[in-house]
Amino acid sequence: TVISVDLSNRPYDIHVRAGLLADIGSVLAPYARDSRLLVITDENVAQAVLPKFEAALRSAGLSSAQFILPAGETGKSWAQLEQLTDWLLEQHVERSDHIIALGGGVVGDITGFAAHIIKRGCAFVQIPTTLLAQVDSSVGGKTAINSAAGKNLVGAFHQPSLVLIDPELLSTLPTRQLAAGFAEVVKYGLIDDAPFFDFCADNLDSFFAGSPDIRAQAIIRSVQSKARIVAADETERTGTRALLNLGHTFGHALEADTGFSDRLFHGEAVAAGMALAFRYSVRMGFCPAEDAERVTELLKQAGLPTSLSEAGVSAEGAALVDYMRHDKKMSAGTLPFLLARGIGQTFLSNDVALDDVAAFLDSEV
Ligand code: NAD
Ligand code: ZN
Repeated sequence: TVISVDLSNRPYDIHVRAGLLADIGSVLAPYARDSRLLVITDENVAQAVLPKFEAALRSAGLSSAQFILPAGETGKSWAQLEQLTDWLLEQHVERSDHIIALGGGVVGDITGFAAHIIKRGCAFVQIPTTLLAQVDSSVGGKTAINSAAGKNLVGAFHQPSLVLIDPELLSTLPTRQLAAGFAEVVKYGLIDDAPFFDFCADNLDSFFAGSPDIRAQAIIRSVQSKARIVAADETERTGTRALLNLGHTFGHALEADTGFSDRLFHGEAVAAGMALAFRYSVRMGFCPAEDAERVTELLKQAGLPTSLSEAGVSAEGAALVDYMRHDKKMSAGTLPFLLARGIGQTFLSNDVALDDVAAFLDSEV
């Protein structure tokens, strides 16, 4: 399946196919210089995926030079960016070269940013290896690194020239990482696609058991949603793209409270955040209680947290709301909030009173 991201100036394709990695050599051949590719990856992916990737390149007469980042968020630091850009320059990267990001969101984010700044802009190809990266971070062109002031505050919009997704790469991904990515899959159903939410609910067991067909379908439908929303609002100007933040305002507060650590993965925080956004929508009289219960139930079945306590957060509502007040999206004293009239009916509200959110969070525990 090929999905086109319809950007006015630079459209690009996303290929989704089980087994794509096995013939990645022929797909990447046009992007090699002197039969060589520049590949950025991390320690875990270097173990789990790189040997197969290299074998596939060899069978097409190609090879790669690799830069291996430490796994996890520390891979997205200024220090790593300096080493990575130095390495690319040592490799005599040229503006016509395509840099390859082989890994999860961390690898994709720092590689995309490095590509954006090296020689004032090189092209890059995304080969996402986590579910989160396949359905979310590899599509849309946001790139970033972390800095002392917080996550993703230094970055740029830089669209890849190609995204290659092989659902089979998920076979080595730890289940907890798979579940975290699944939260973002469910998100697309909750935003504006109720039938897809039903698909997720009906096929949850097959998805986690590894059914290639169900995994491919879930990824394709998610990528189509993200591509459509991004094409409507490439650089976050009109507000359409804000829909992708469903569950993220609550989620971000939970991540902040747990110190953005492995205690709570991003996708886990988003799961709890979406359940909270639905229950808050019920409290506001927008959403039937039954829909909020279905959301909570599905996320629970996926092994995801759906409440403050399940997320390991014991902070008071006022403290959590304080994190929200520092949100990038806060402007002129109000914070746009994503609420729902039901599953598949998310909307942006500018009338949410943060004091009321704090009271709601206290009533939750
Ligand atoms: P990640 O890149 O840290 O990967 C999670 C873990 O899985 C890592 O330990 C990694 O080494 C390992 N891994 C990756 N692929 C594997 C495989 N196939 N088999 C075994 N292990 C594997 O995390 P992530 O969840 O992919 O991405 C999170 C990052 O993405 C965050 O930094 C976040 O800010 C960013 N992000 C960016 C966007 C965007 O639009 N650019 C959107 C969402 C998230
Ligand atoms: Zn997210």
